[in-house]
Amino acid sequence: MVSETVDKIGTLIRQAAERQRPYVERVCAGCKAPCCERVHYLYTEKDILYLRLSGLKQTWRREGFMKKGCWFLGPSGCSLDLHSRPFICHSYICSELEGAIRESGPTVMDELRETFRVIGMLRGQMWAEYLDETRRRENNSIPS
Ligand code: SF4
Ligand code: SF4
Repeated sequence: MVSETVDKIGTLIRQAAERQRPYVERVCAGCKAPCCERVHYLYTEKDILYLRLSGLKQTWRREGFMKKGCWFLGPSGCSLDLHSRPFICHSYICSELEGAIRESGPTVMDELRETFRVIGMLRGQMWAEYLDETRRRENNSIPS
């Protein structure tokens, strides 16, 4: 069922964020050219579908057209809750951040890459299951 797939994605996103947190706090805090200041709008169709199906409250607050960088970048960082962020925001790890993660040992980076691979696979599955369930609902509502 698509709802189960959405739950699995949510769990893995939380795990990946927790795994990265100590490195992000250390490395990104002192970054001279933050990635969030070099992008604008990153949502894909699967991100939008995940948001819709997760039923989580969306905390979209567009901070303004004129400023530099992502629309959702606020004065103290990302203004979106974890599950409202595009997947690329979870899976993008620049070389500096990767270097810090790899310094801590050989496994964390490999585990993260594997988690992102599985999330990517589940997002494809979510899409297929959503289309399938929608089609079945529509077929059931057609009077015979
Ligand atoms: S991920 Fe890399 S580029 Fe982005 S804020 Fe962190 S250190 Fe900077
Ligand atoms: S959504 Fe948040 S994490 Fe992603 S680029 Fe924008 S400010 Fe950064």
